[in-house]
Amino acid sequence: MITIKNEREFRKMAVAGACVAAVHEAVVEAADVGVTLRKLDGIAADVIRSRGCTPSFLNYQGFPAHICTSPNEVIVHGIPGDYRLAPGDILSIDAGAVYEGYHGDAALTIGIGDLDEEARRLLEVTRRALWEGIDRARAGGRVGDIGHAVERAAAPHGYGVVRDYVGHGIGRAMHESPQIPNYGVPGKGTRLKRGMAVCIEPMFNLGTHQTLTKADGWTVVTADGKRSAHFEHTVALTADGPVVTTVSDLLTARPLG
Ligand code: MG
Repeated sequence: MITIKNEREFRKMAVAGACVAAVHEAVVEAADVGVTLRKLDGIAADVIRSRGCTPSFLNYQGFPAHICTSPNEVIVHGIPGDYRLAPGDILSIDAGAVYEGYHGDAALTIGIGDLDEEARRLLEVTRRALWEGIDRARAGGRVGDIGHAVERAAAPHGYGVVRDYVGHGIGRAMHESPQIPNYGVPGKGTRLKRGMAVCIEPMFNLGTHQTLTKADGWTVVTADGKRSAHFEHTVALTADGPVVTTVSDLLTARPLG
């Protein structure tokens, strides 16, 4: 659970994280009306390979692709296939990469063409909830501090906060303890320690929080078919506070120095 013991390990997390950020940049750039999700997966594969990383998701428990692409009512774990993006779609892109044994994992949700107001607000509130959670990812705090901050961001909007899927520790494996739910009680739960790395990943739905899994065994959708947004970053708990590793510019900084 304690992952980052020194600068060297931190830098490996940062290389993996920068790769994930590059995947997002390339996939977001390519995601447009008429483009298939399979095409986006190929772009992601090329970026991961070009950076000397390996994809965390491919073959993970049999997952058949490099990224998860989750349009509209799909919450998470969508398999990039023949679906062509349409105007007004929202699309969650979840990516993971490994560098010398260290993982980065992040997701974002984008709009294809013009979005209706309801979708625009869902994306913005979910994105902000992620950053509220990140701000609570501090050594000495508790997992419940993060979950509470995330959940509170959804409350004024009446969104369904997904409970069946949660954030997680990360480091030498993509999924480590502790679990980081998107709900919680401040001051409760596992104590957060310096050197931990966690993935915080709010999933907010326009309707019910309840989920269903499709026959492919992967695709998780909202039980009522309403749309869902998902944002995620990998966050290292340093002496100086939370540092997001899944960004493009971290390797220029020395946050543990
Ligand atoms: Mg994750």
